[in-house]
Amino acid sequence: MNERILIVEDEQELCMTLGDRLRSEGYAVDFAFDGKTGFEKISQPEFDLIILDVMLPMGSGIDLCAQARQNGVTTPVLFLTALGQTIEKVAGFKAGADDYVTKPFDTLELMARVEALLRRPPTRDSSQQRSGDLYRFGSVVLDARRNRVTYNGQTVTLTSREFQLLRYLAEHSGITVSREELLEQVWGHTSGTMTRTVDMHVASLRQKLEPHPKKPELVLTDPGMGYRFQA
Ligand code: CA
Repeated sequence: MNERILIVEDEQELCMTLGDRLRSEGYAVDFAFDGKTGFEKISQPEFDLIILDVMLPMGSGIDLCAQARQNGVTTPVLFLTALGQTIEKVAGFKAGADDYVTKPFDTLELMARVEALLRRPPTRDSSQQRSGDLYRFGSVVLDARRNRVTYNGQTVTLTSREFQLLRYLAEHSGITVSREELLEQVWGHTSGTMTRTVDMHVASLRQKLEPHPKKPELVLTDPGMGYRFQA
């Protein structure tokens, strides 16, 4: 049961190096070298992870990801961005990215991100009502099978990472959870150097869920402390 990874990247040398490395770790790897082929392949439900370059011939990775998410594709997406593309990182998260690495990247770091994205979230014992894949927290219902959430009667589709983040916060409802804890528990990172990632995902959750993202009522900020879910 090899996990399948799709690499969408026009630099073929990078594709081959990365592909060899991933295969040596036991993953099955497929490639697309332009945006058009990438979109066709992403739309097939056979991949467990997509590594997606931002700058592609025939369509940007960001547009491609946004379109796939609109079509209901929830496969985790790891973006490859070039140095200094800060704006594109933000756009990438809005488009539904789960994580990113900046080129040129360290292969070990990339492998760690890949493993973290593929790792299933641990099952937890907690007091939430659970029936099948549905979790209920007050007015919020999380559907784990579809990465969907219903809040105040509105259904929203989340990326798998957004879903795991919301679920972790909801499972700790009323408790302030630090960015470091979220990175460790939701992303599987052990160092605290990626706390902006947490902020970006919280911002994206708020955009999708909150009627007034700047005045959140569901995922609250405790300044200097972290985030708190309030159903
Ligand atoms: Ca490129």
